[in-house]
Amino acid sequence: MYQQSEGYNWYKVIATLIVNFCVRPRYPRPEAMKNCNSCGKCCEYAGNGGLSATREEIDWWETHRPEIAQFVMDGKIWVDPKTGEYFARCPWLRQEAPGGKTSCDIYFDRPEDCRHYPVDIAQMIREDCEMLEAGDRKDHHRAQKKLDAIMIDVRPPVSS
Ligand code: SF4
Ligand code: SF4
Repeated sequence: MYQQSEGYNWYKVIATLIVNFCVRPRYPRPEAMKNCNSCGKCCEYAGNGGLSATREEIDWWETHRPEIAQFVMDGKIWVDPKTGEYFARCPWLRQEAPGGKTSCDIYFDRPEDCRHYPVDIAQMIREDCEMLEAGDRKDHHRAQKKLDAIMIDVRPPVSS
């Protein structure tokens, strides 16, 4: 019994050495995608009609958050009520200091468009999202799977 147990342990030690020194260096695990660091780059693309909202969201804002609804016009967000033009920058984006972290003034009532971000890797690359690792830019398919796993509770997966 003692002999069998010791043999099994040696087998495990050798198997671990082979995996750590021979297999993993050749086939490294995919690096995890980084967490969102609130850089705000994605929100910078939300001006000039870069976002949309559903009829249900607009109705809800009109009933419960009129200060949000004031920037909706003919189903379009975010529109300056004084000029009827899109704001060049999302009016809810806050940045305490230049280059610092950002926050959203309507975070809990923001549109689904914002809740679902990031959706796809091409969009993240275009907007220079800081969640991306170097490998994500090379292998979009694998990166999309990692992203879909992160967003599983928020939106349906994009990758097949
Ligand atoms: S509504 Fe909030 S989350 Fe959406 S773009 Fe503006 S600041 Fe960003
Ligand atoms: S660009 Fe990426 S890292 Fe930056 S706030 Fe948006 S989701 Fe987060």
